[in-house]
Amino acid sequence: MAKQETTTKKKHALSFWTDMKLWKQILIALIAGLVVGMILGPPAAAIKPIGTIFINLIKMLIVPLIFVSLVCGVTSMHDMTKMGRIAAKTVVLYLFTTAIAITIGLGLGALLQPGAGIDIAAAAAVEAKEAPTLMETFVGLFPTNPISAMANGNVLQIIVFAILFGLAINIAGEAGAKIRQFFEWMAEVIYKLTAIVISFAPYGVFALMAWVAGTYGLDVLLPLGTVILAVYVGCIIQAIVVYGGAISLLAKLNPVRFFQGIAEAQAVAFTTTSSSGTLPVTMSCAQKNLGVSRGVSSFVLPLGATINMDGTALYQGVCALFVAQAFGVSLGMGDYITIILTSTLASIGTAGVPGAGLIMLSLVLTSVGLPLEGVAIIAGIDRILDMARTTLNVTSDGMVTVLVAKTEGEIDEAVYNQAHVLEAEDIPVESPPAK
Ligand code: ASP
Repeated sequence: MAKQETTTKKKHALSFWTDMKLWKQILIALIAGLVVGMILGPPAAAIKPIGTIFINLIKMLIVPLIFVSLVCGVTSMHDMTKMGRIAAKTVVLYLFTTAIAITIGLGLGALLQPGAGIDIAAAAAVEAKEAPTLMETFVGLFPTNPISAMANGNVLQIIVFAILFGLAINIAGEAGAKIRQFFEWMAEVIYKLTAIVISFAPYGVFALMAWVAGTYGLDVLLPLGTVILAVYVGCIIQAIVVYGGAISLLAKLNPVRFFQGIAEAQAVAFTTTSSSGTLPVTMSCAQKNLGVSRGVSSFVLPLGATINMDGTALYQGVCALFVAQAFGVSLGMGDYITIILTSTLASIGTAGVPGAGLIMLSLVLTSVGLPLEGVAIIAGIDRILDMARTTLNVTSDGMVTVLVAKTEGEIDEAVYNQAHVLEAEDIPVESPPAK
């Protein structure tokens, strides 16, 4: 009798968890991971492999997901001028939000003075990274071998190949129609696979959070507390004021709904610190929770995960001022403008992977003659900063996607306003109505 009762209780507890919305599960996992990591300290790293498996699984989705959904996107959008317009709007918005982010970063760096009173003696030498020229970057967009672009996960080359492939399908008559149908079916299967992987998110998030909290105790964080504060406050201002403002004033949509809809992608970005890795989740959020068409989201989001890094730019602004203050270098107006320009370019060149922003920081520091040893100081706490900047990077991608979709009539406002949050088993499999 007693045994039966225990079994029923267990079942209740289990269904309480499994019936819970995914975003709530992720939030609970995040907080639980933080608490467990704080209690266990460094041994919490033992749980990290669960998080690594989760990251591997979402990375596994990136290439097939971008390729298949972008091909479907192009074949569902026959209007070439519309595609060009979407591309232009996307790039302009990405650059514009990035420039605002870095300005906020510089403002907070000047206001909060994170580098005041820092001991610079412990710093180790770091090598600067060479920036590729603009022409090299442009030529590099075109793959010589699409299979190797996919094998290396070169997102920009995959985007170019997918667009050309989709265009070829559109003009290939009957054969094209068959291949198009094949890709539609393929997309359904990949979206199902995405749903399976995303349902694993709470466990991955828990493990990663416990590892971070266990590894970076308060002792490590306190001396650079103001840098952390400046980056986090900056990210929150950019998200709420700039993105919230753009969603309500430009897109005339409810910003609260936006933040609800993007929450899962934010939680995954926060714990994995990879906007490319988060891409499958961001795409699900955009389509399922925010009602953005597959065509727009499958173009704007992969591009954003590669070139749009507002959080990274903001962080570079704060860190440049931190290094200048810590080393007693004074910067003039020209230096600030140089930092804005190089940070914007550096953030475009930053890969959406953990720690990439730190490497690009050396580029920004070199541009205004700041000592590269600054990078070594920041490196100690970079993971904590990466969590905030990646979250902002992903939020920004989502905001631009909604804005572009709204202006192109590619958003289903009924879905957006419901803000019905993605359930793992319930990813959309239908194509949006062809416009
Ligand atoms: N981790 C960041 C991202 O994936 C890039 C960076 O390091 O700034 O978006």
